[in-house]
Amino acid sequence: MRLHAQGQSGLKPFASLFLADPWRLRADLHCHSYFSDGVCAPSELVAMAKVQGVELFALTDHDSLKGQDEARAAAEACDLAWVSGVEVSVTWANQTIHILGLGFDPHDPVFVSGLDHVRAQRLARAQAIDRSLAQAGLPGALEAALERVREPEQISRTHIARWIAGQRGYSDLREVFARYLCDGKPGDVPQAWASLRDSVGWIRAAGGVAVLAHPARYRLSPLLQHCLIEEFREAGGLALETASGSHGPREVQHFSRLASQYRLRASAGSDFHAPGESRTALGAVSLIADSVEPLWSKWAVNN
Ligand code: AMP
Ligand code: MN
Ligand code: MN
Ligand code: MN
Repeated sequence: MRLHAQGQSGLKPFASLFLADPWRLRADLHCHSYFSDGVCAPSELVAMAKVQGVELFALTDHDSLKGQDEARAAAEACDLAWVSGVEVSVTWANQTIHILGLGFDPHDPVFVSGLDHVRAQRLARAQAIDRSLAQAGLPGALEAALERVREPEQISRTHIARWIAGQRGYSDLREVFARYLCDGKPGDVPQAWASLRDSVGWIRAAGGVAVLAHPARYRLSPLLQHCLIEEFREAGGLALETASGSHGPREVQHFSRLASQYRLRASAGSDFHAPGESRTALGAVSLIADSVEPLWSKWAVNN
């Protein structure tokens, strides 16, 4: 593998860090700020990561690069290794799939405009969810959710879920999703995000690497899971996020096995959104299994 990322990607300065054992490196390459559906500023996340002992960090907001400059500056100021990041919303086989882009040039015009296009769909989709929830007896979701975002185009189901939780007295957002927002529920409206091929293509053309996020989260038959991983790899995808805040030990093991089977690398990310809400703290992800190669193990030698 050869990474062409330079300058803005954050991949260059790590030579000394990666001379050590890459399997023992504490990486958290997946979290969210208030530029998507997290609640912390990028600089707060960097400070928390540092306190938690994270050695390699990426902020991966949904379809948005707005927090990248702040994350980079904060990471540089506290000497934390940083790579650029984003979590792209993709529709594949009528399901939403998340593809992480890491170590790309955040000013790449094609990638930036692809993400702009994906983000631009969020408000209309939230309006459709709002109408559907109103019909189901829950009016006012959109207005309330918009008060919780910095910009309308970043609105997500999480913002709506937080409002419903407050209205209906739920303490766990997963329960709100299960009752109101997941498959077959009122807030489940069809959506066509980016294609798998486009998202991976944008990331690679911008000099980055593509990672299939939290693969255990998708409800796929073993055959469809195989098709997804195959198609992801054929499109140029490089790694599975085997160590994820969404994965228990069995899922870590399962996807580590699949990563070696498909000759993919492994990545690690907490998917942290908010204190007291996310089950996994920032940085609290398992190390990469010995049987698979960490995503970052060649980053230093190739740069
Ligand atoms: P959206 O991009 O608007 O479809 O929102 C997706 C986000 O909702 C994910 O990134 C998670 O943060 C959150 N989410 C999705 N499903 C669940 C769930 N079952 N429980 C809690 N949060 C969820
Ligand atoms: Mn999210
Ligand atoms: Mn995700
Ligand atoms: Mn995420």
